[in-house]
This record gives sequence, C-alpha cells and structure tokens, in this order.
Amino acid sequence: MIKRIGVLTSGGDAPGMNAAIRSVVRYGVHHKLEVIGIFRGYAGLINGDLKPLDHRSVSGIINRGGTILETARCDEFLTESGQLKAVEVLKRNKIDALVVIGGDGTYRGAIQLWDKWHIPCVGVPATIDNDLNGTDITIGADTAINTALEAIDKIRDTATSMKRIFVVEVMGRDSGFIAVNVALAGGAEEVLIPESSYDVGEMCQDIVEGNRKGKNSWIIVVAEGAAKADKVAEKITEMTGLETRVTVLGHIQRGGAPTARDRILATRLGATAVNLILNNEFGKAVGVQDGRINAVDLHRAVEEKETVVDPFYRLIRILT
Ligand code: ATP
Repeated sequence: MIKRIGVLTSGGDAPGMNAAIRSVVRYGVHHKLEVIGIFRGYAGLINGDLKPLDHRSVSGIINRGGTILETARCDEFLTESGQLKAVEVLKRNKIDALVVIGGDGTYRGAIQLWDKWHIPCVGVPATIDNDLNGTDITIGADTAINTALEAIDKIRDTATSMKRIFVVEVMGRDSGFIAVNVALAGGAEEVLIPESSYDVGEMCQDIVEGNRKGKNSWIIVVAEGAAKADKVAEKITEMTGLETRVTVLGHIQRGGAPTARDRILATRLGATAVNLILNNEFGKAVGVQDGRINAVDLHRAVEEKETVVDPFYRLIRILT
C-alpha cells in the first residue's frame, strides 16, 4: 500500500517542470497520498534534502519556468554506493514510491532504482530535447521552440534590413529537433542538424547563386551538436566573401513561462504518473501519443528515439 511518494526534478531544467510538480502534488494529495519534495534531483536524494509538500506549497508556480525543486547533475548517483545512500534515505523517510521528472539520464537513474533496488519509480518526460520514446513530445520542448522562434523572428527583421547572413545556433547536442522546428516555423533558408551530413561548400554555392538573383538575407539555423555557429559563419565569409553575423541563443531557450501546450501536457502527465503509482504500475514512463495518455517501460523510453526530424528537414530544403 503506497502512502507516501517522493517527487524530484533532475538533469537539465525544462519549462513546465513546475506544472508537473504541481500536478503530482495536488493529484497525490487529492488521493490521500503524502508528497515529499526532493531537492536538486538525485543529489538531494542522496543528501536527504527533503520537504513535505501540500496543496499550497505549489501555488502560483504553473506559469513559472525552471523548477521549484531545483535540479542537478549528480555523478555520485552513477555509483552503487551513491545509489545505496539514496535508497537508505527513501527507506528512512518511508517514501514508498518516486516520481522522477526529467530526461533520459534521469530515467536511467530511475531504472537503476527500480531494477536493482526495487524502489517503485515512474518517469515524467521533461526535457527540451524531445528525445524520449513513449511520448510524441516531452514537456519543455514546445516552449523552447517558441522561445527560439521569437528570437529568429527578431533576427529576421534585422537580417532583411541589413542584408546579412545570420547563423543562429540553437540547443540540441544530439538532436536536431529544436533546430528543424524553429527553421520550419521561422522560414529559415538552411538548417544543420546532427542527424544529417551537410556540405558547407554546397550551401555557399546556394548563397552565391541566391545573391546573384537578388536574395541578400539568409538565416541559417545550426543545432549545437551539428557545428559551432562561429565556425560555420567564418567558413561562409571565407567562401562567399559575404558578411555574416552569429547569434548563439544558449540558455534563454530553457527559461521563460511555459506555453499553454507544455502546461497542459505537464499537468496531464503529472496526474497520470500518480495514477500509475496508485495502480501499482512501476518502472514505467508516462507520455502522450496521438493525443492519448500512454505509459511505456522505462527501458523502452530511453531507447534511441525513432527519427522525428526527417520529414521537417526535407521540407525545409524544398521550401528554401
Ligand atoms: P536533459 O537531457 O534534459 O539534460 P537528463 O535527465 O537526460 O536531462 P542527465 O544529466 O543526463 O540529464 O541525467 C541527470 C542525472 O541522472 C545524472 O546527473 C545522474 O545523477 C543520473 N543518471 C544519468 N544516467 C544514469 C545512469 N546510467 N545510472 C544512474 N543514474 C544516472
């Protein structure tokens, strides 16, 4: 019988984590569960950094980016001794089950807790990278795309007025998800992503050709995992003789108020995670697929995500 659950956020923060925490707490309390907030992810779990949360502790946070529970990356949790410390904290505090909110690393931690230490865990997908299986989109990705898009729209104004080539670097170490979405929505001329090889020489030929026909502003979106924006810009200037400017959007993409879509997703998924726990369904990750609430095994959730960028990538190239 589950009476007390813990909730933590871990890894990179994502807009909408707060909405997920709020939902877990209020849905849990509604179902007579005690909810304990664990601060700074697995680091706080190891150190026993806990605080009981009630209905009111999560007031006024649905619209806020970041996470009130804070987040961390914790190498100690990768070790067996670190995990043992975490398990002891959970036992000592009579926490029967855990909701982990985060990305694939966070899920891998939960897999350890469930498979090796038999701590009931459920995962809620929150990462701007959208690289988890079992859900069409993760919490935070929509906000990150919209934030980057707002910046691209502004850059386009100046690119057009000044007749310049802008190379804009967006987040995505292993995934071009943000890049292709932003490029498609922002009408970018080119996009470089880690999933596809690219030829800067060919791109430069296109630019020179376009320039000859009177096109004199370009926006080239680069996912950080594909190339460094300044290197791409240098190469373009070197090969075309045209002036380039670089913008690295960086961490602004993680911040800001979550979009309605992220708040709704986070709220639905937080409640679903609690439902799984109430039904004694552990070792799973919640998600939404084709509009329907869904749960998959945590192992499945962290398998490499089937490519979601290809159709967008091809379309961008056609529309350029
Ligand atoms: P994002 O992808 O948005 O940055 P994430 O959850 O993938 O989020 P990570 O930094 O990869 O972020 O992982 C968060 C934490 O999860 C790590 O610091 C570590 O404590 C734990 N973790 C990651 N991988 C494992 C693993 N294989 N075993 C145990 N714990 C892990």
